[in-house]
Amino acid sequence: LTQLFRPLDMLGMVYRTIRQGLIDMAAMFRLIDMPVEVADAPGAPALIIREPRVTFDNVVFGYDPDRTILHGLSFEVPAGGHVAIVGPSGAGKSTIARLLFRFYDPWQGRVLIDGQDIREVSQESVRAAIGIVPQDSVLFNDTIGYNIAYGHDGATQEQVVAAARGAAILPFVERLPQGFDTEVGERGLKLSGGEKQRVAIARTLVKDPPILLLDEATSALDSRTERDILATLHRVSAHRTSISIAHRLSTIADADTILVMEAGQLAEQGSHADLLRRDGLYAEMWARQQAESTVQAEAAE
Ligand code: ATP
Repeated sequence: LTQLFRPLDMLGMVYRTIRQGLIDMAAMFRLIDMPVEVADAPGAPALIIREPRVTFDNVVFGYDPDRTILHGLSFEVPAGGHVAIVGPSGAGKSTIARLLFRFYDPWQGRVLIDGQDIREVSQESVRAAIGIVPQDSVLFNDTIGYNIAYGHDGATQEQVVAAARGAAILPFVERLPQGFDTEVGERGLKLSGGEKQRVAIARTLVKDPPILLLDEATSALDSRTERDILATLHRVSAHRTSISIAHRLSTIADADTILVMEAGQLAEQGSHADLLRRDGLYAEMWARQQAESTVQAEAAE
């Protein structure tokens, strides 16, 4: 009987690993309808990552055949590099993340991780390589420990504790009478937006992926919590390749490279200082956001 159940267990594990990614992805992009299925190539091998580089090579893509969204997009994130993607609403930022997670395949061009076309390797291995930290994390009505280990059946208590430490939520958990066994969610302890986000960061740390996809719009948090969470995210990303989808520019000013998207094309790219000097779309967006935050600060006084 155990023989019979082992493959089912395996399937369960694979399913949960993928599902965790899907849940985080759904939370990140508020996907309502499930996108079209992409299939593994027959006998597709697993992705092998020596250097977690991410490359978009002349990617053309749209959701509907008569509307192109990305018009030949090319960029590279070097191993260990930090790239932020900014641009007006609808510019195609989330679409880039969806293609990297292989929810869809490009019409033309390629998406590569460490030089391997992600269409030619197993989806499971692609999704296992990418950790997602959404802005609104989904918590299950279960314990904090379960929520951190979720999707990683083999996770040991030590790994869960180390992840909680890395996500700077360990002191909080240790102060709770039931510690990691504290029930959270609907019927349990209600966590604040910042605590929930830390649980999501810890969940990603248990997964220990070489590539991180971050949604840095922490709009639900007050500015002090936002700063603390950003500091944690920066620490967690330090030795990984990271791609941040940013809605507010103040959070990504220290990225190595900022890609400025406009209508599915790369309008500008460079560091924050380069882009300000260029005095183009980014400089304009920056000036507008600075003015808005001054108005908000004055209104709050
Ligand atoms: P925002 O900052 O508002 O999140 P974005 O830059 O992330 O925007 P995308 O979500 O990538 O933009 O969307 C790019 C374009 O693709 C938009 O015009 C959007 O309407 C369209 N689009 C996104 N998802 C779908 C979908 N599932 N089906 C059809 N069109 C879509």
